[in-house]
Amino acid sequence: MCKLYILFCVYRLKLLNFNLLEINPLLLKKTYLTTKFSKKEKSNNKLKPTNYTMHFFERVLQPPTYGWKDDSGELIKPSGAQIIKEFFSRLNIFGDKKNWLPFLSWIKILCLIPFFFIFLIYFLEWWTVLAAFVYSMIIMGTHGTIWHHRYCTHGAYTFTNKYWRFFTQNLTINVIPEEIYVVSHHVHHSLSDQPGDPYNAQAGFLYCFLADVNHQPIAKDLSEAEFSRVQQLMEHTGVKSNTYAQYQYWGSYVNPKGAILSWLLNWAFWYAAFYLIGGHALACTLFGAAGFWGVGVRTFNYEGHGKGDDKKKAGTDYNQKDNSINQLWPGFVAGEWHNNHHLYPKSARSGFKPHQVDLAWYYIKMMHTLGAVKHYKCFKKQFYAYHYLPSKSKS
Ligand SMILES: [Zn+2]
Ligand SMILES: [Zn+2]
Repeated sequence: MCKLYILFCVYRLKLLNFNLLEINPLLLKKTYLTTKFSKKEKSNNKLKPTNYTMHFFERVLQPPTYGWKDDSGELIKPSGAQIIKEFFSRLNIFGDKKNWLPFLSWIKILCLIPFFFIFLIYFLEWWTVLAAFVYSMIIMGTHGTIWHHRYCTHGAYTFTNKYWRFFTQNLTINVIPEEIYVVSHHVHHSLSDQPGDPYNAQAGFLYCFLADVNHQPIAKDLSEAEFSRVQQLMEHTGVKSNTYAQYQYWGSYVNPKGAILSWLLNWAFWYAAFYLIGGHALACTLFGAAGFWGVGVRTFNYEGHGKGDDKKKAGTDYNQKDNSINQLWPGFVAGEWHNNHHLYPKSARSGFKPHQVDLAWYYIKMMHTLGAVKHYKCFKKQFYAYHYLPSKSKS
């Protein structure tokens, strides 16, 4: 009887353990890390956490109807017509309300474009051209690096409190939804230049240019455990999460009410602020500039990975694992030294060499000096010790 009871307890424990792993994927990873495996077990790929992570990142994005890869595992390169067709079907909120987030993102772009034409027609002067250039090329781009990229996705630094986080989040006109950027960017790092990479440059310019609609939104059929993993990726951003039931209804992490309200408040604030500084001339110029950036930034993912070819140069690009390259222009205007970044994704600094200006890093460092940033990670020393100096001594 006693034996039977023990057997029953062991069985219940196993059951509980199994269920916990289902509910919390992190526990699965932790369990792996703290469990001792035999040699044979170690060789079993199924037990490796990277394998688990790959699985999640292969699942988390909504696959396009043309698919990521064919039966032999090769990247599917859709035609231009297929990409355009997919783009419009995934923007159709009447066909499926779960398309609302990429639809909202493009509505923002459409709302910004008239400002750009108003700027061109009514306010074209030397000072507005200069303001448009600085705002679209430097301020919007650098903010994308500071906020969406280094903070929201890579957690390269932390804020002292949520007010500084809110301040940094709203430092510019709001254009790109955090959720679309963050989750898919994790996938980009996990599957760089492989099938499943949401902006795989090998599939062409249009594939990358329209990726925010065709490849970046989260899947609509995530399990509760998978959705909780999405919540873990997004939690620190301060963007409020849907419940799982709300996710099943809306197909997104963020709730439409919150997204629309924060968009409208952000735009109202910035239009009023620019108007007070420089009238409608400045307000229309900078809103137009934000629209120009919102369209132009889509070219970066294609170019930052060598337009699909291996364009890495010795002495410039040290990370050999993918096609990412360091380019002067995105580096100078936005701190996007992309090859360096793939080498040390969690670094709050990507410009390591003396000429590699990194405005995003200067902001983070300044905020640290002011006490707004609590902690940051910088991998400059590791870059010199493990990559730059060894390559110098070889040559
Ligand atoms: Zn990349
Ligand atoms: Zn990144």
